[in-house]
Amino acid sequence: MAYHFVVGLEVHAELATRTKMFCGCKNDPDEKIPNTNICPVCTAHPGALPVPNKKAIEHVIKVGLALGGKIADFTEFDRKNYFYPDIPKGYQISQYKYPIVTGGHLRGFDITRVHLEEDTGTNKHEKDFSLVDFNRAGVPLMELVTEPHVFGSAEEAAKAAAVFSKEFQLVLWYLGASEANMEKGEMRVEANISVSPEKKKFGTKVEVKNLNSFRSVERAIKFELDRMLELYKERKESEIVQETRGWDEEKQKTYSQRRKESSHDYRYFPDPDLPKMHLHEAFDLKKMEKELPELPEEKRKRYGRDYGTKNEDVEVYVENPSLAVWFEAIAQILRDKRKVKLASNYITTDYLGLDKRGAIRAENFAELINLTAENKISSRVAKDILAKMVTDSDISPSEIAEKEGLLQKSDEGELTQIAEKIIMANQKVAEDYKKGKEAALMSLVGAMMRETKGSANPQVAKQILVKLLE
Ligand code: ADP
Ligand code: MG
Ligand code: ZN
Repeated sequence: MAYHFVVGLEVHAELATRTKMFCGCKNDPDEKIPNTNICPVCTAHPGALPVPNKKAIEHVIKVGLALGGKIADFTEFDRKNYFYPDIPKGYQISQYKYPIVTGGHLRGFDITRVHLEEDTGTNKHEKDFSLVDFNRAGVPLMELVTEPHVFGSAEEAAKAAAVFSKEFQLVLWYLGASEANMEKGEMRVEANISVSPEKKKFGTKVEVKNLNSFRSVERAIKFELDRMLELYKERKESEIVQETRGWDEEKQKTYSQRRKESSHDYRYFPDPDLPKMHLHEAFDLKKMEKELPELPEEKRKRYGRDYGTKNEDVEVYVENPSLAVWFEAIAQILRDKRKVKLASNYITTDYLGLDKRGAIRAENFAELINLTAENKISSRVAKDILAKMVTDSDISPSEIAEKEGLLQKSDEGELTQIAEKIIMANQKVAEDYKKGKEAALMSLVGAMMRETKGSANPQVAKQILVKLLE
């Protein structure tokens, strides 16, 4: 029987703002001393009044525009009521009926909505007691919800969810909306998962939490879909209940946490302390859309088109914006597409492969590529010079090549002399070649390369050796 594997994602991201969502307290995810960034508003003293943070709303609008969503004209904040020690008001300010963004699309998933809420405090459980830290309480938190997406296999579903999450993190980085570090909990992915034998009717879903990396997103979804599939196959699907499950990183398993509450339990209602908002009046949306920075997908297209960069390389730049800026500076100097491709090879394999990486000026790196492309230095020498350049950022590659006698030797006279010396010193190998052993020739070329510290042009060296040995 063909099963359908369904995944819908909910992603929370702490927004990068100077202050919290409804008060002037510092929004500092790195604050180590508990209860430092707090005030009567974010600790819910009676009578304290919230004031919305415009920057946070702006971030959510930008995310909406970047995802191709619709920005609400009318929007408001609601109270989501529940009791928990880390939520001092007894409710969380969130959005219910009128989210800032509806619709949109990213990496195969349709977006349902993106809304704004406030983060909770954090609990610390000791042996006999618990402590609450309110530094995080009231930090602006964006929530994105996707539509459920149907996949043909558990692997495909798991992979797609990880790809989506990673792409969304990039979008947040590019927009400067969030640091979105998953390990630090600045971005939190929850996966809603179900399996069904019928296309039209979805199965009971569970929600998986505690996903602290893209790898856990993928593994947890795969695990959970497999678990459900197994239950279906054993005709025990009634054992699948709507619940929240955690991901146990150590055991690589999901486990039941609690039965899921439904939205009517929260008694949502509009927060009377906060103003209704008309975003089309409060923001110049056209201008904001025009001024959006280049997004990851646009960058991929541009790099392919303008530089002919191969896909794996493009991904390296997309994920590493400062490397991308450097690469583009080099490309501007080189201009020639063949050289730009060569530069990209050296950057993504040789430069990134170095143990110790220092800054190299774009001019110097471009010169290194020119020397290589014009056969003035061999590729082995290029790698050696590169390693020297990272330790001394001001020295140019041609200076290094000249000073150390590394410029490629193609001069027949000079190379003939060296070849004769090599043949003298390796007479047995030379004899082997004369007897028809082809490999012996390469060993002589190798000896010449060593003798010249890699600066002999290997093609020319080979020709000369062949001539001398005939
Ligand atoms: P809830 O009210 O339980 O929060 P929602 O309808 O708001 O449920 O959906 C929450 C998330 O669950 C969304 O990302 C949605 O795509 C996803 N979802 C809904 N139904 C299913 C299902 N049957 N299987 C997988 N994901 C689902
Ligand atoms: Mg929900
Ligand atoms: Zn505060």
